[in-house]
Amino acid sequence: MAVMRLDKLLSNMGYGSRREIKSLVKSGHVEIDGKTIEDPSSKVDTDESKVFVRGEHVEYRKYTYIMLNKPAGIVSSTDSRDTNVIDILDGKLKNISLFPAGRLDKDTEGFVLLTNDGKMAHNILSPKKHVEKEYYVELDGELSENGRISIENGITLEDGSQCLDCRIEMISNEMKLCKLKIFIREGKYHQIKRMFEMTGRKVTYLKRLSIGDIRLDSNLEKGEYRELSSDELDKLP
Ligand code: URA
Repeated sequence: MAVMRLDKLLSNMGYGSRREIKSLVKSGHVEIDGKTIEDPSSKVDTDESKVFVRGEHVEYRKYTYIMLNKPAGIVSSTDSRDTNVIDILDGKLKNISLFPAGRLDKDTEGFVLLTNDGKMAHNILSPKKHVEKEYYVELDGELSENGRISIENGITLEDGSQCLDCRIEMISNEMKLCKLKIFIREGKYHQIKRMFEMTGRKVTYLKRLSIGDIRLDSNLEKGEYRELSSDELDKLP
């Protein structure tokens, strides 16, 4: 049995500030197991008790994991003036201190995992854990065989930093447009753009398709998001 104060539970689930939650409870909007509870410090069994706020069932979970299909034009960092990945969430999700487990550039699209689970985010981001991220890439021209091999073997970037070896799956490679998938296990600043720049090519489109064994849901339109399913939760590193 896991016991927690009612106000802490509601705060963890995004029901507002301490003060807002106090007033919500005191004004009789919260029920536990069918009884209206007006004391915010009441104890709740998070496994057994049924908590309702204004008739809405509150399903308690310690951490939240959101799959977002990030559109271009939105930034990952929450300390910028631009619209960020948290701004585009609705309602209560805005209140629970989510952050991206791995950033994408403003012009990059695709899978951003938002969570408040710091340990799991660390597992995803640490190069030591070798969690593979898959990206779809378009380049402004043909990628040479030497360029592909040097990237796959672990290319040295312009600032001398060394990338780990990685995998490329070529989709098409033509004079004016190369399409490929790349699988990398780290996340240096602008890493993919800089890797291809070292081969003389420019990335013209970039989208993250998966993080570890979790794939971006193709039903999510740009800007849409959903919670991870229980199967996906089992695949978290
Ligand atoms: N590599 C980049 O260059 N940009 C991203 O957004 C992600 C990986």
